[in-house]
Amino acid sequence: MDGETEVTVIGAGLAGAEAAWQLARRGVRVALREMRPLRTTPAHVTGDFAELVCSNSLHADDPANAAGLLKAEMERLGSLIIAAARAAAVPAGGALAVDRARFSAAVTERLLGHPLVSVCRAEAVSIPPGPVVIATGPLTSEAMAAAIRELTGREALYFFDAAAPIITLESVDQSRAFWASRYGRGGRDYLNCPMDEEEYQRFHAALLTAQTAEVHGFERHMVFEGCMPVEVMAGRGQRTLAFGPLKPVGLIDPRTGRQPFAVVQLRKENLAGTLLNLVGFQTHLRRGEQERVFRLIPGLEKAEFVRYGVMHRNTFIRGPAVLNLDFSAKARPDVFFAGQITGVEGYVESAASGLMTALALLARRRGRPVFAFPAETALGGLAAHVTASPSADYQPMNVNFGLLPPDNRKKRGKKEKKLALATRSLAALDDFILDCALNEGDPEQPCLPTQL
Ligand SMILES: Cc1cc2nc3c(=O)[nH]c(=O)nc-3n(C[C@H](O)[C@H](O)[C@H](O)COP(=O)(O)OP(=O)(O)OC[C@H]3O[C@@H](n4cnc5c(N)ncnc54)[C@H](O)[C@@H]3O)c2cc1C
Repeated sequence: MDGETEVTVIGAGLAGAEAAWQLARRGVRVALREMRPLRTTPAHVTGDFAELVCSNSLHADDPANAAGLLKAEMERLGSLIIAAARAAAVPAGGALAVDRARFSAAVTERLLGHPLVSVCRAEAVSIPPGPVVIATGPLTSEAMAAAIRELTGREALYFFDAAAPIITLESVDQSRAFWASRYGRGGRDYLNCPMDEEEYQRFHAALLTAQTAEVHGFERHMVFEGCMPVEVMAGRGQRTLAFGPLKPVGLIDPRTGRQPFAVVQLRKENLAGTLLNLVGFQTHLRRGEQERVFRLIPGLEKAEFVRYGVMHRNTFIRGPAVLNLDFSAKARPDVFFAGQITGVEGYVESAASGLMTALALLARRRGRPVFAFPAETALGGLAAHVTASPSADYQPMNVNFGLLPPDNRKKRGKKEKKLALATRSLAALDDFILDCALNEGDPEQPCLPTQL
């Protein structure tokens, strides 16, 4: 055991709390630094660790859903966040929802009570000597953001999320769409959804009357340079979209031999091509409204959204450019990143990221070579997004089955396909846990479940 040495974890949110727990329970002394309640963020209201800033839901609990699978994987690795959530669960159908005060209190208590965790309540204004895990989240304080910018370079740190929705390829009706690039440059890079004038008018009218999401005080004054919400653009004039992101020039629909009135282009979001983003569709519409309005696009009637468009403050680094496979910074390998700041999105995803970073850091300390979660797992899918996403427009991502390699065995329905993916993931994770034996030499079992 290396109980004498110390890792600094900055930020005791979902990711930092999980990372600190994973390190401490495997025998590493942790200095956990949290600025609240002395200094707070625009969204947090307590001084507790792992505060849920908005909804009290940790999403689906069924492994046939990607969010449920991620929880099952984390439980196998002894996650504190999932154990605390189970202990504070409130009835919520198929979802895992919690009494937020009890949940955060359980996480805080557990960490404060751990003999290897020392807590310092102060803002970190610079990056201390390593090893250090930076888990300061989407609302990272200004001083820390400046320190990170210095490490990563200005162009690799983003301050807000202005993302278009991402849908699955298999949910697109490809009989209504065609693969092509504008003017034939670049081959079959885009899946194009053509619209005639009537379809365009209907879509435009729906956009104009759709409801936008609630605006938090700290977002109201943001300037959306170069990424105007599609609904705002629609409000500028009847044909503005048709001359903007929906312009049809250079695209001929092979079924009619003509240029359509307007075209919505879908671009590959991952190497496997299983996920597509709606090009130019940054939006502030409510989630339900995004489904209602964007499903008016021909071919997208049954679109499955794996990520909704969002516009809100979000500090995150360009993971694939900045990070090594073990979530350490290329510029300073003793500095690791975890949580939403790496480009995952969501409470559970952030905690999962904290868990992965802690295990990667441990693997490094134990002299293990490259440490990577199996690609078939939800954890591995998230890790690949953060460290190796090929997207030119890198954006935070919720967990979803599109991040996993497809399972080409024939399956009847959607549910059966997802269950098969989940079974494959858990089997791969079990092998991985046996293989990597992270607690080598520890008296503690490798992955005892965390019980509260
Ligand atoms: C307004 C808002 C609403 C959201 N709603 C949801 C939702 O409903 N559901 C969902 O799944 N996800 C939601 N998210 C997204 C996201 O999953 C959560 O923000 C999640 O808490 C991220 O986890 P994290 O650990 O990366 O960051 P956080 O949980 O925010 O933790 C970061 C911690 O670092 C501390 N910190 C920051 N800077 C410093 C510093 N310099 N020194 C010391 N400490 C510092 C902060 O006080 C905080 O405790 C929301 C995000 C925002 C901004």
